[in-house]
Amino acid sequence: MRNIIFIAPPAAGKGTISDVLVKNYNYEHISTGDLLREEIKSGSDLGKELDKIISQGKLVNDEFMINLMENKINSLESNKPFILDGFPRTLEQAKKLDEMLVTNKITNNIVVYLSISLEEALKRVMGRVICPKCKRSYNINNEGLKPKVDNLCDDCKIELEHRSDDNAETFKTRFQSYQENTSPIINYYEDKGLLITIDAMSGLDNMTISILNEAKND
Ligand code: AMP
Repeated sequence: MRNIIFIAPPAAGKGTISDVLVKNYNYEHISTGDLLREEIKSGSDLGKELDKIISQGKLVNDEFMINLMENKINSLESNKPFILDGFPRTLEQAKKLDEMLVTNKITNNIVVYLSISLEEALKRVMGRVICPKCKRSYNINNEGLKPKVDNLCDDCKIELEHRSDDNAETFKTRFQSYQENTSPIINYYEDKGLLITIDAMSGLDNMTISILNEAKND
């Protein structure tokens, strides 16, 4: 299977599709948001600083994020395909990622752009709840993505949580920042002939099938 680099606005479904690919296709899921939230949970000084930035919907600076990703890429198991969820988010990060992949001879990659309207993304953000242990994402506004028992993770049986940045006000900043910073990356990968665009409103099953078709090695 090819490595998958997701480019998408908040709540387009990267996390949900990643769960399917991890469970069924042996993918490793690298979510920069999850890594940052782990640091915040640890209560460290760094975590406190990150919390301020994230809860305002702003982006963490490129230097820090590139460093974080460099460490992660260098420690990957070579026989496992991976999913990058949340990185790159700026053109600078995309260019640096290219260098890291070349240096580590990781060439079997696709870039998947999930397109979604602002209205639909906002609806999803407002209904999203997450398991603090396994990080599985649910949505109380979507029949297919609700937990089996109200507010409990199907797998871990512990209480689900709302993300502190999943509210209407912060979402607006996050979507705006996505439009400003992340959409230039789409052109960058399009020019390289790597971009695959998927309609994030076509349903989870259809999206997963389309992505799998592209991710399978020829
Ligand atoms: P996510 O879970 O991907 O929605 O990320 C949550 C938040 O973490 C974002 O709104 C940013 O504040 C921060 N973040 C995650 N990944 C990055 C990145 N690659 N560059 C800058 N900030 C990031």
